[in-house]
Amino acid sequence: AKDALTQTVCYYEVSMDEVARDRRGIAKDLWLAIERDELYLHYQVQKAVDSGSVTGLEVLLRWRHPDRGMVSPAEFIPIAEECGAILPIGEWVLREACREAASWQEPHRIAVNLSPVQLTNADVAGLVGRVLEETGLDPTRLELEITESTIIGDKERALRALRQIKALGVTIAIDDFGTGYSSLETLRSFPFDKIKLDRSFMSEVEQSAQAKAILRAIVALGQTLSVPVLAEGVETREQLDILVLEGCDEAQGYFLGRPGPVGEGTARKDAA
Ligand code: C2E
Ligand code: CA
Ligand code: CA
Ligand code: CA
Repeated sequence: AKDALTQTVCYYEVSMDEVARDRRGIAKDLWLAIERDELYLHYQVQKAVDSGSVTGLEVLLRWRHPDRGMVSPAEFIPIAEECGAILPIGEWVLREACREAASWQEPHRIAVNLSPVQLTNADVAGLVGRVLEETGLDPTRLELEITESTIIGDKERALRALRQIKALGVTIAIDDFGTGYSSLETLRSFPFDKIKLDRSFMSEVEQSAQAKAILRAIVALGQTLSVPVLAEGVETREQLDILVLEGCDEAQGYFLGRPGPVGEGTARKDAA
């Protein structure tokens, strides 16, 4: 029995070691990804639920690794946050997205994801101001998406940075709303311009009366606070119909448009 235990422990250690080595491999390659030109951006449309008009495009980072192929941001972003590569990568995403959007014919708003690490470890407001100036993008065309976990860290510092960013004319959306621990506290103390309801609610809203009741309550909350609510992860016509009935403001998801190289109606100026 003792041998079996030892074997199990050794096996476990070896596999943990492999995971760690793999993470280190990814971390090492992340630092090179920018200069090797392996990163690019996809955009996913956000639409008004009532009119169907485009309200914005979320910017989603893509990484094509020379050996691994496509690596999901769900996999590499946490590693980038841990090893610090998220700072140069996040800066690259912001600059690239603003540069691309400034060349579009349609002046759609872009929504860029901001990592908690960026908000608490760098002068992110200074960076945003510089990038807007460099690229000439109208500040009102930029929205930053932050998660509640962003704010749990150094709250004062995060709040100060958010205020500075808002003073530039940039808007802030709270991402993955409903998954954190302090949703109401967060809403009370931070200056948000949009609530993005986490897609886990959408996946359940047709089956679960509870998920629907929560959707209804959050839409009402948004109305009370005069903050639009966007539902993420809308995959079916039926889900969109529910959003219409519940008076949800905006929607995003595969049913409305998959992430892709350029969003709808965003032909480059020089292509016209
Ligand atoms: P997120 O911010 O919640 O982004 C939305 C994710 O949902 C995207 O995954 C998108 O492709 C996916 N999605 C959109 N519509 C649907 C749908 O109808 N159904 C389902 N099941 N999924 C849908 P993606 O592109 O794989 O990104 C995953 C996460 O990685 C993002 O979640 C975000 O947290 C992070 N991420 C992506 N790009 C960046 C970036 O530039 N910076 C930072 N800091 N994080 C990023
Ligand atoms: Ca992308
Ligand atoms: Ca997001
Ligand atoms: Ca989200």
